[in-house]
Amino acid sequence: MTGYGQHLDTLPSRVTNPFRGRARSLLALWLVGFVSLAIATWLCFLAGLVSNTAAFGYLIVIVLLSLFDSFVSSAIFSLIALACLDYVFVEPRFTFQVAYTEDVLTLVGFIITAFVVTALVRRTRALAGAYREQARLLDLTHDTVLVRDVDGVITYWNRGALELYGWTSAEAVGQRIHTLLKTEFPIPLAEITRELHRTGRWEGELVHTKRDGTRIFVSSRWALQRDGNDRPAGTLETNNDITERKRTEEALKKSQATYLAEAQKLSSTGSFGWNAGTGELVWSEESFRIFGYELTIEPSIEAIYRRVHPADAALVKGVLKRAAAEGGEFDYEHRLLMPDGAVKHLRTVARVVGDSPEDRNFVGAVMDISAAKRAQDHLHQTQAELAYVTRVTTLGQLTASIAHEVNQPLAAIVTNGDASLRFLNQSPPQLGEVRDAITRMISEGKRASEIVHRIRGLTKKTGTQTSTLDLNELIRESVSLVQRELAVHQVALHTDLEAGLPAVRGDGVLLQQVIINFVINGVQAMDAVNDRPRDLVVRSREVEPGQVLISVQDSGVGIEQDKASRMFDAFFTTKPNGMGMGLSICRSIIEAHEGGRLWASGNAGHGATFQFSLPAIPRCAS
Ligand code: ADP
Repeated sequence: MTGYGQHLDTLPSRVTNPFRGRARSLLALWLVGFVSLAIATWLCFLAGLVSNTAAFGYLIVIVLLSLFDSFVSSAIFSLIALACLDYVFVEPRFTFQVAYTEDVLTLVGFIITAFVVTALVRRTRALAGAYREQARLLDLTHDTVLVRDVDGVITYWNRGALELYGWTSAEAVGQRIHTLLKTEFPIPLAEITRELHRTGRWEGELVHTKRDGTRIFVSSRWALQRDGNDRPAGTLETNNDITERKRTEEALKKSQATYLAEAQKLSSTGSFGWNAGTGELVWSEESFRIFGYELTIEPSIEAIYRRVHPADAALVKGVLKRAAAEGGEFDYEHRLLMPDGAVKHLRTVARVVGDSPEDRNFVGAVMDISAAKRAQDHLHQTQAELAYVTRVTTLGQLTASIAHEVNQPLAAIVTNGDASLRFLNQSPPQLGEVRDAITRMISEGKRASEIVHRIRGLTKKTGTQTSTLDLNELIRESVSLVQRELAVHQVALHTDLEAGLPAVRGDGVLLQQVIINFVINGVQAMDAVNDRPRDLVVRSREVEPGQVLISVQDSGVGIEQDKASRMFDAFFTTKPNGMGMGLSICRSIIEAHEGGRLWASGNAGHGATFQFSLPAIPRCAS
């Protein structure tokens, strides 16, 4: 505030002073003018000069006077000089008359020349003033502004240039710019010059060396100046010091690179760039580590092949060959066999960068997923063991059913044995009847053995075994084990199996476990039902698109809203002796089959339907 106030206080005196000064200098000029004209007249008179020569002397005085002030003053001096010339040097002398025509011409010529010269001098002075003003303005800017001629010699150097580089204008003007500043160009100077001449402009980043030897980065803008004939006359260059920004950028880049490297290490993810056209491959540090190479080796596709597990070599070669031919993107998993015998699991994802379909420049990531794979394997094993335990538990629940199932053929064998004895004891022995009875005994024995075989299959602890399966057959086998269960709980079982059902791929034992689970759950859900028939329908259908659907529909208690979302959770049960593992195991079994889905829904009437679907094997392939 104080500063601003002070400025206002001093303003009037500043405004008045220039006028006073101007009046004084005008007075002085007029004095000098009159004195000069008087002296010139006196000298020319003494020298006895004729009018022409005297006119020349006056012209010199007028030109000199016009250098000092305005056009008006100079014009007035010219008129006074004209009067003096006429009065003193033109015949008849000491009058303002003109006797000869040539003197009239001299006087007219003098006054025209005096005016033209005065105007020219004034114009030149105005131009010089404007130029000085422009130079003063350029000095005000913080930017470095310099001009150089076509040979690169500096012709103008502003205060900004002095402040940035350390050389004064006097020192810099006349020097070759690129020698003085030791310019380092981002591209060859010839190329820059070509662009400058073509477009009239160029801009880019340069490195200059200051007077004190410091190297600085500048953002440089060049504009070509042309003369009246459109020929290059010079170049105006403005430069801004961007060293600090560059340093910050560099530091940022460096820290970003460090963070990136650390993050890649943490996530065991390396990155790469691969030009499938030239074969050039670039790896990040983590990629070197994943493939087990020193940072000094040259990454190559051969180096990758050297590490690929022999069992996956064809897969990897196939993927890379296809990618090189077709571009696009790829995402696949394979193993590495490291020199120490360790096996690594990798997932590689990459895609082409660039818009052209011919581009084969891939950018990608390679992830070491060995730990995740181990955890997944462990999980599968645990799930398999859990499935086994629950299967055996379920079978335990079915002991009565199974015993009944085995008992039936055994009872038939005994009955037929008794009958055979009776036929043999007859006289003559009824051998034909005996043969028939023995045939029946053999078939019943086979039936019993088949049941035992099936039970053993369900209780055997084997790993996952995938094969082509007929789900109708699987359903028949499963329900044969629960016949007594159905009878005891007075459940009527209806099987509605679609003939010619396509085969699926899966683990028979596990899928049977799912069907048995659904059936037993259905039977148990109908325990409390006494006011309607206890119907259980097991269906198989081929549904679009190419899926086989198995459903078990009961007429039991149904599914309440809050139960629906939790039924498939482990340990969720509403039964007093329930374990709550059945449905959760069923879900993991079906989800472990590729494309498998499992779900439950309430029926329109009573009860619920539990179903699963698996992809059908296309008929021509089965
Ligand atoms: P558990 O049979 O040991 O209870 P499950 O996982 O097989 O374990 O079933 C979990 C729960 O889902 C059951 O306790 C029951 O409440 C519900 N549930 C299963 N099947 C049916 C069904 N068919 N109808 C109604 N509720 C069912």
